[in-house]
Amino acid sequence: MKCMKQAIILCLLLGGCDISIGDGGTPIVARCGMTFDPAPALLEATEAAATRWSAATGCDVRVEAGGVPVRFASAEERGGHQAAAVRNRVTGEWSVGVAPSLLRWTAETLLTHELGHVLGCLGHTTDGLMAETTTLYAPIDASALDCVCSSLACALFAPEL
Ligand SMILES: [Zn+2]
Repeated sequence: MKCMKQAIILCLLLGGCDISIGDGGTPIVARCGMTFDPAPALLEATEAAATRWSAATGCDVRVEAGGVPVRFASAEERGGHQAAAVRNRVTGEWSVGVAPSLLRWTAETLLTHELGHVLGCLGHTTDGLMAETTTLYAPIDASALDCVCSSLACALFAPEL
């Protein structure tokens, strides 16, 4: 059923990444802020990623109940990749799923990448944090900000580089 389909952005550390964006790629966010609601074990990594995006964009990116869910997800839900940002075609709602086995530092890098998708970067950049093949500890670079701020109403443009 069409209503069950989801647009999926699958991202893989040190590997390939498949993208499928629904609804014609229309901007999802036209405001300067977003909240994420992580599972307890992902709280630290999600807060770290949110804090980095807040500093880079000048937007209010934070952890709060009722925000975009960030949770552990099965390999099937992740499309076999280590992390995925998934947008429901019908509701437009996002969720972020990561592998239960991810170490904290891996989770922070991947969550920073996935949060970037939710915040407004619907594709990938040629290199850096928002590249298909991101690298551990990748900073929020200018190309990542360009991509995110194409949809998010960024108040700042302050790459970590
Ligand atoms: Zn990605």
